[in-house]
Amino acid sequence: MDDNQLLRYSRHILLPEIGIDGQEHIAAAHALIVGAGGLGSPAALFLASAGVGTITLCDADVVDLTNLQRQIAHDTGTIGLPKVESAQRRMAAINPGIDVRTVQRRVGPEDLAGLVGAASVVLDCSDNFATRHAINRACVAAKTPLVSGAALRFDGQLAVFDSRREDSPCYHCVFGEGEEIEETRCAVMGVFAPLVGVIGAMQAVEALKLLAPCGESAAGKLFLYDALGAEWRTVRIRRDPACAVCGAVHG
Ligand SMILES: [Zn+2]
Repeated sequence: MDDNQLLRYSRHILLPEIGIDGQEHIAAAHALIVGAGGLGSPAALFLASAGVGTITLCDADVVDLTNLQRQIAHDTGTIGLPKVESAQRRMAAINPGIDVRTVQRRVGPEDLAGLVGAASVVLDCSDNFATRHAINRACVAAKTPLVSGAALRFDGQLAVFDSRREDSPCYHCVFGEGEEIEETRCAVMGVFAPLVGVIGAMQAVEALKLLAPCGESAAGKLFLYDALGAEWRTVRIRRDPACAVCGAVHG
């Protein structure tokens, strides 16, 4: 690290749990963020400011006026631009020393195998079950840790699925497919602006802890935040030995 980097990251380096070693691990890491909306905005900005060396950001959408109430990587001046480009500009303005790559399409299983394979950690900031399950499959196959977040109305949730660990459940163990879960979207249901900030920032917290590495990972826990009722709940989650996705991998 040069003098500038030592200053930029000095408040991390002061933390004995991170230090120069941890900051160098963060600089050498590659984070994949799927979704540059409400959750992806704070997650991407904090990973950029914290110095994650390579960040790949995927999103098919363009910035719309209705996004600006909560998607803080974008602004009035970037309405009409691809979200990945709008976010990339903000990330480069915060930290020009990192490499931000963009994928402007809805990523499917074909894309994800390569993208996840190149990443040290994956942040699921997407807004639909098909993408969530496709990301989970790719993360289980590549044994890449997955930091999953979701937010709708006043309710948020966060979980880490770390397939490198024998005992860690995957997303599919907890949220099965084909259970006729009605897909509810922000466009229909609404979402409280700072809720996505809380959950997206927590995704950055867990991702940086995995990369440094430091502390205890949230793997094996599901955090549920009820903003309206001012309640946090932590639920233990377990691997399903019969899981169709991770069962075959772990045997
Ligand atoms: Zn599983």
